[in-house]
Amino acid sequence: MSLRLYNSLSRKVEDFKPLNPDLVTMYTCGPTVYDYVHIGNFRTYTLSDFVHRILKYNGYKVRYVMNITDVGHLTGDNTGDADLGDDRLEAAAEKEGRSARDIANFYIDDFMKAYNRLNLLKPTKFTRATDYIQQQIDLIKELEKKGYTYKTSDGIYFNTGKFRNYGKLSGMTEEAVLEGARVEPNPEKKHPTDFALWKFSPQDKIRWQEWDSPWGVGFPGWHLECSAMSMNELGETIDIHLGGEDLKMIHHQNEIAQSESATGSEFVRYWVHGAFLQVDGGRMSKSEGTGYTVSDIQTKGYDPVVLRYFYMTAHYRTPLNFTWEALTNVQNSLKKLYDIVGSYKEEPSAKADEQYLQKFQEALNEDINMPRAVAVLWELLKSDVSEGSKIKTLLKFDEVLALNIENFVGFEVPQHILNLAKIRSEYRKAGIWDKADLVRREISDLGYLVEDTNSGFKVKRKI
Ligand code: AMP
Ligand code: ZN
Repeated sequence: MSLRLYNSLSRKVEDFKPLNPDLVTMYTCGPTVYDYVHIGNFRTYTLSDFVHRILKYNGYKVRYVMNITDVGHLTGDNTGDADLGDDRLEAAAEKEGRSARDIANFYIDDFMKAYNRLNLLKPTKFTRATDYIQQQIDLIKELEKKGYTYKTSDGIYFNTGKFRNYGKLSGMTEEAVLEGARVEPNPEKKHPTDFALWKFSPQDKIRWQEWDSPWGVGFPGWHLECSAMSMNELGETIDIHLGGEDLKMIHHQNEIAQSESATGSEFVRYWVHGAFLQVDGGRMSKSEGTGYTVSDIQTKGYDPVVLRYFYMTAHYRTPLNFTWEALTNVQNSLKKLYDIVGSYKEEPSAKADEQYLQKFQEALNEDINMPRAVAVLWELLKSDVSEGSKIKTLLKFDEVLALNIENFVGFEVPQHILNLAKIRSEYRKAGIWDKADLVRREISDLGYLVEDTNSGFKVKRKI
């Protein structure tokens, strides 16, 4: 059974057929690096990772680009107009007393660490907006040549009235945009849906990041970067473009408008949007202290793969509600999985179980149904398939799940850990509790847990 994907453009689940049967091209709108990336953002990037891995699982080669926004994303999109407000990077630089590039480097570094901890496969390339300024200028020049742009006092704008298909993704009309906006529309814009391609630097301020252009010193608008990077790295038409559902209405609509106006070709064939992660039933919010990061998860004692498993508990097109209690439940399931796998005595057999492999792939291929894929895993564990074949099948599943199952297979406690556990046990018998505790901590630092049972002690790998 081949892969089927929900395409936001047709609003239907479609058979996936790449333009080039040998190489799938895919792009994800990545983070704006003015602050820590939260676990909501990572729900979307983990969706991209599932799609990436599932494409590979189906035998495709994939060229995958994720961008990093380090310029031009203004604060105005929170108030309904993405062309207004401060550049998030410039504002953070001012607040933290560092250069915009320093800010970006710092948060990129933190992002990469969390990215790896969640077992997200590296894209073919991470592209940074400030490394593609010339390509963005070239794209504006092309649009200007074709008559799609006009100038206002604060920048060069795209005239959405000239693009016949405006609204084909979002279904947004100008009226709807006007209604949704919480600010007065910019009176210099010809249509409320028009958006900035190039913004002029303010007269009274020197920005950390600004460039010369045929229109004056300034910086590119946020929407422009994704078109420029996607088309330069992956070609005019790509197969899959991913992002959170909030990007569908404006950002992706604008990407389509400027790309297709410039090239005359279709920009993206399958648009995939992930539903939001909520916290305690509401919107994630930094100011309310619910903008949790992967580091917060770790500080509270959870392995980041627990979060990865948590993301799999809901289909990507339904909202998922994060609570610490829900995370603990998932952690318990994962522990149980590791315990079962660790208890198997047989060696992995040469052959995986074909029937379960097929069920698993069917779940993946029916629009990335991760909850069903996980259910198939539990079904397998309970089945009468031989232990050796179960292990082999689980390892194959883990090419997509990436839950580190391999670490727990045929697991034997190393001798030096067992020795420490024995020493601790002796201390306990002698009632020397502080020393027993010290040894327990040493064992813990080495990545293991000792549990006391009626028949002695048991050592487990920490998760
Ligand atoms: P930003 O850094 O705001 O540009 O967002 C980066 C990515 O994270 C985009 O694809 C957003 O759609 C996505 N995103 C933002 N908040 C959430 C959330 N609460 N749940 C899921 N995805 C989100
Ligand atoms: Zn984008």
